[in-house]
Amino acid sequence: ATRHNKKPDWLRVKLPIGQEYARVRNIVEENKLHTICQSGNCPNMGECWGAGTATFMILGNVCTRSCTFCAVATGRPNEYDADEPRRVAEAIKLMGVKHAVLTSVNRDELKDKGAEIWYQTVVQVKELSPSTTIETLIPDTKGNWDALIRMIEGGQEVVSHNMETVERLYRNVRPQAKYARSLEQTKRTKEFGKRTKSGIMLGLGETQDEVFKAMDDLVENGLDVLTLGQYLQPTKMHHEVIEWIHPDTFAMYKEEGLRRGLNYVESGALVRSSYHAEKHI
Ligand code: SF4
Ligand code: SF4
Repeated sequence: ATRHNKKPDWLRVKLPIGQEYARVRNIVEENKLHTICQSGNCPNMGECWGAGTATFMILGNVCTRSCTFCAVATGRPNEYDADEPRRVAEAIKLMGVKHAVLTSVNRDELKDKGAEIWYQTVVQVKELSPSTTIETLIPDTKGNWDALIRMIEGGQEVVSHNMETVERLYRNVRPQAKYARSLEQTKRTKEFGKRTKSGIMLGLGETQDEVFKAMDDLVENGLDVLTLGQYLQPTKMHHEVIEWIHPDTFAMYKEEGLRRGLNYVESGALVRSSYHAEKHI
C-alpha cells in the first residue's frame, strides 16, 4: 500500500456537461430536492445525470451523525418536510427515471427514525410512476425494528444498507454505527422478503482479509448484492485516502465475492452504491 495524494489515472473522469445533465439539475433545483450525487461530489455525475438518473436524498440535508468519510453536514436537523415525498415523486416522474434510487440522512432524533417519510416517498413514487422500480438506501434504525419494517414496506424492490467499511474501522469511520447492528438490519430486511444490497468503500486502511471477512458476514446475513468502490476524500477535513486500490484488485474482490456466495458484485474504482443500480434489481 502506497500513500500519496495524486489520483491515479483510472479515477480521472469527464466533466458533467450536456443537455440531459442540465435538465436533471433543473428538475432537482425546481423541486428543492437534495441529491447524494451533489452532496457527495460523486465522480459519476456526468454519466448518471447525462443518462437521466440521480440519487435523491430525503429527510433534509443535515445529518445527526458524523461519519468521517461523509460530506453531508452534521447537526440538529430542522423539522422534517411533510411535502418532500410528493416533490420527490414529481421529480422522478418528470425525469422519467426507470430505476429510482432514494437515500436519506440519519434522523436519530426522531422517534420513528424518519420511517414514515420513507414509506410515504416510496408509495408516492409508485403511484406516479408505477413502472419505475425503486431502490432505497436506508440508514440504520438503531435497532428500532418496527421503524425498519415501515421503511421497507412501501413496495420498493431493493433495500440497501451500506456497511461502508470493515468491522475494525467502525469506531473511526462510522462512530455512531455498530457493525453487528448493521448486519442484523440486513438479515431482517432479507427475512422480510426484500432483495438486499450493501456497499463497502475501499482505501480506508482495511486489509484484504478484513474485506473477505465482511463478505462472509454479509453472505451469512442474507446479502444479495455488494458494491465495492474506491473511497475519495471529499475535503481535507475528512478521513484520508490510505490506499488507491488497483483495478486488478477490484476484479479479484468481485471473483471472491461471487465465490463466497454473493449473488451480484459490482466492484471498481468509480463504483458507488447507486452506480449501475438498474443492472441488479
Ligand atoms: Fe449519483 Fe450514484 Fe450516479 Fe454518483 S453513482 S452520480 S451518487 S446516481
Ligand atoms: Fe453521511 Fe449517512 Fe453518515 Fe450521515 S449517516 S454522516 S449521511 S454517511
